[in-house]
Amino acid sequence: MSAQQAGVPGSGDSTRSVHAGRPAHTAYEPSLPGPVFVSHYHLPGEPVGPHVYGRDDNPTWDLLEQAIAELEAPGDPAASTLAFASGMAAVSAVLFSQLKAGQTVVLPSDSYQTTRALRERLESYGITVRLAPTAGDAQLAALDGATLLWLESPSNPDLDVCDIRRLADAAHAAGALVAVDNTLATPLGQRPLALGADFSVSSGTKALSGHGDLLIGYVTTRDPELAAGVRYWRKTIGAIPGPMESWLAHRSLATLALRVDRQGANALTLAEALLTRAEVTGVRYPGLPSDPAHKVAAGQMRRFGSVVSFELPDQAHAERFLAALRLTAEATSFGSVQCTAERRARWGGDAVPPGFVRFSVGIEDAEDIVADVRQALDAAASGPAAG
Ligand SMILES: *Cc1c(COP(=O)(O)O)cnc(C)c1O
Repeated sequence: MSAQQAGVPGSGDSTRSVHAGRPAHTAYEPSLPGPVFVSHYHLPGEPVGPHVYGRDDNPTWDLLEQAIAELEAPGDPAASTLAFASGMAAVSAVLFSQLKAGQTVVLPSDSYQTTRALRERLESYGITVRLAPTAGDAQLAALDGATLLWLESPSNPDLDVCDIRRLADAAHAAGALVAVDNTLATPLGQRPLALGADFSVSSGTKALSGHGDLLIGYVTTRDPELAAGVRYWRKTIGAIPGPMESWLAHRSLATLALRVDRQGANALTLAEALLTRAEVTGVRYPGLPSDPAHKVAAGQMRRFGSVVSFELPDQAHAERFLAALRLTAEATSFGSVQCTAERRARWGGDAVPPGFVRFSVGIEDAEDIVADVRQALDAAASGPAAG
């Protein structure tokens, strides 16, 4: 749907978060129409839209997609969004709708691990996969002859950052399209299309919906032809979001600015507190002025996200820390209103040390979060015997 169709009166991020994708005020109608549960529509005569069949289109998706387009590309009437069943459905939709046998894709070697897990399948279809790290814009050196450059910035879980504008310009000069996984930043933290990307792809499961209660994904692009390819992929593969999830995600957008502002402030406070602990090393948060990624991040991000990563001396130490947390749940995923943390190496698949912790900062009070982490670090430091 067009980002301009309803338009948002006001340009502040909170205003846009609250109003994005909501229909014009209409007497006796709700502010956000409820989810439309439908497989088939009344469809006399020629099967032309706007609504044809439940796998092709749904009025609840339309409003969510319009809302996300308004956040990813404010005021850009060309931007359109397609919603998917999950972040991976959106990632796969771009990769597999754009790439053909004989072509080359450049992926980050430190991307979200399930994105990298697609490598074998891509290669089995005759697509060449090149991997290079996010840090230092190392993917620049792998662009020759590529069809698609895939970026993830900040990367999950290492929180490295690349210069999206620089890489996008180089990729376009080399004839490649550019997709950015914008999950960690959210559209209020970073606007990949304005930085030159052709696709902004995201898992809305994380901070975008932010309550840890649903999976959803999306792709935003301003090129109608690219959008049509992704739409046709969704129709033929059928990786569509449920109307209930779509509605819940849209409802959650109203608090997006509040949530990401609080998460960012809390994350910075936590990162600073972690820097004072001798047993904690490798603290990473792109919003931390001393972080190696801060300079590039500050040039292209408006908010730095909810994830802080750091290392404890070894696996046992990290396990004691996680077990001692009281407020913070040991859980995967990130971006929720509640604090969660996990020892990332437990999954395998990421090049991280055994004591590496990915901490997702919630919207609780900063003092409570820091107190919880401090008491858990104290408990973990006193060793297994004190347990
Ligand atoms: C979680 C995540 C995904 C996948 O999203 P799902 O909704 O879990 O399918 C993709 N990219 C990044 C960076 C993620 O963190």
